[in-house]
Amino acid sequence: MPDRIHALPTQLINQIAAGEVIERPASVVKELVENSLDSGAARIRIEAEQGGVKLIRVSDDGAGIARDDLALALARHATSKLAALDDLECIASMGFRGEALPAIASVARLRLASRAAAADKAWEIDGDGTGLRPAALSGGTCVTVHDLFYNTPARRKFLRTDKTEFGHLEQVVKRLALARPDLGFDLLHNGREVFSARAAEDLVGQQRRLADLLGSAFVEATLHFDYAAAGLRLSGWVARPTFSRSQADMQHFYVNRRMVRDKLVTHAVRQAFQDVLFHGRQPAFVLFLELAPSLVDVNVHPTKHEVRFREGRLVHDFVFRTLHQVLAETPEAAHQQGAAVAVDQPVAASAPSQTAMPLRVAERSAAYRAATQWQAPASPSSAARQGEQDAAVSDDGSPLGFAIGQVHGVYVLAQNRLGLVLVDMHAAHERITYETFKRAYAGAGIVSQPLLVPVTVAVSRREAELCEQQARLFSDLGMQVDRLGDQSLVVRALPALLRDADAERLLRDVLADLAVHGSSQRIQEQLNGLLSTMACHGSVRANRRLGIEEMNALLRDIERTERSAQCNHGRPTWIQIDMQALDRLFLRGR
Ligand code: ADP
Ligand code: MG
Repeated sequence: MPDRIHALPTQLINQIAAGEVIERPASVVKELVENSLDSGAARIRIEAEQGGVKLIRVSDDGAGIARDDLALALARHATSKLAALDDLECIASMGFRGEALPAIASVARLRLASRAAAADKAWEIDGDGTGLRPAALSGGTCVTVHDLFYNTPARRKFLRTDKTEFGHLEQVVKRLALARPDLGFDLLHNGREVFSARAAEDLVGQQRRLADLLGSAFVEATLHFDYAAAGLRLSGWVARPTFSRSQADMQHFYVNRRMVRDKLVTHAVRQAFQDVLFHGRQPAFVLFLELAPSLVDVNVHPTKHEVRFREGRLVHDFVFRTLHQVLAETPEAAHQQGAAVAVDQPVAASAPSQTAMPLRVAERSAAYRAATQWQAPASPSSAARQGEQDAAVSDDGSPLGFAIGQVHGVYVLAQNRLGLVLVDMHAAHERITYETFKRAYAGAGIVSQPLLVPVTVAVSRREAELCEQQARLFSDLGMQVDRLGDQSLVVRALPALLRDADAERLLRDVLADLAVHGSSQRIQEQLNGLLSTMACHGSVRANRRLGIEEMNALLRDIERTERSAQCNHGRPTWIQIDMQALDRLFLRGR
């Protein structure tokens, strides 16, 4: 071990830097594709062999690198993207640290070939900056990386099977391809095409890419939206809560088209879904946040996976409120406003594309269909048939149609223009009651109604005390509960909406919630939970006979209520079975 201080050789410095950014073949691909993105490429081709360990080749049709700059591109801290500290304040490119190429070159055999836009021929150079020679390349840049970690056996040992490594690599390419639907991407593994995505010209093309990369079930379950305010823009696709997943594997969040894993943003998204997702379920989304580069710091970590917002609170609120609103879609709103989302506002910063307006119409009918077809059959229907459906619903003021009857006291059967509507009576009513409670609680408070016969309930001393301490909260909830004795309480009034509820059971459930959530601060946070418990009690139970008028009233309530397409636990409250699906059931050709 040397005992004198000495400068490290360049190769070793680069290998140390590589330790931070190059973990596996997928990280090489990320760096190279990001360089292609920065070069203004329109099409990017990624080839890999043996999971990318043996070979990775990324070629693009971007601006290229001039012959005399080739060696510099491989030098540490050499970049064309940053000149002064001020530039760091407003990074618009993916790269800026100037360390990817030298880092990769220090742990693999690299070749860099490029032809600058104006140059008459292409040139190639080796990873150590030597061996400049003419190359056969019609334009753009081609980086070839062989034998990753051939000279760093310790790193190589951490690599998994080719299959696993390719899985990571594919994931990275997919994420980049999701962020840039305006570019074409090709991915090949061991000579076989894994996917080939054409540049998308419009929303339809973007959804096609989304379906290619994340599956058509995801796209069918999603709402598209685009909203901008206060210099922030959030757009993308969120899956309806009924498409929730057990894993957080379909969550793609981009800040200025850069994929990030950010705590603040994750929290805001979770909070927006809190009300509509069953505990432990994970939402699915592809979201793009755009804001002035000066408002976000990407120079937090060499891999740039984390970001820091100048106005964290503002960003959090914006993301939360926008998503909350989007998830509050109502079928009626979809019908009347022509979009399944309540927010849709052109963006000042980047003007909406010319196609945005005609698109609106297509989006309208697609959104309506999406909002009304919960279990849309997978096979695509003919354009003619779709047109017919659009026309059929356009003059219909009651999207959920009218009740025909009740099935086993559980489901309401209704008919609308599209076909059959099935409603889970209890689930739907529960959501409606819950939303009513929330509105009431946020507004004038919940109207309370005295009971003709007060109900005495035996409880533990602890519960009795808890009830006394939380008298204020009970009265806010529209309940009047007094202590009768050491271990007994009396319920004197209930929320008017719940006047028929089982007072004793309601009290016990609310007390149980209070006991679990402890302090009153917590209680405020859990208020929606309490309201939800109360809503459950107040909702029509299965097996209750409803008259046709009551059923129709329920249908109209669903149409009016926010988030009414799923119950408080994230289950669907109603489904549409259209005529085509019915026809198919009976093998009836039309
Ligand atoms: P950074 O991307 O942070 O600038 P890199 O080491 O990744 O650092 O790349 C160094 C430089 O090489 C870039 O700044 C750019 O000028 C050039 N370069 C790399 N890849 C490409 C490419 N595909 N097309 C054009 N120029 C490239
Ligand atoms: Mg780079």
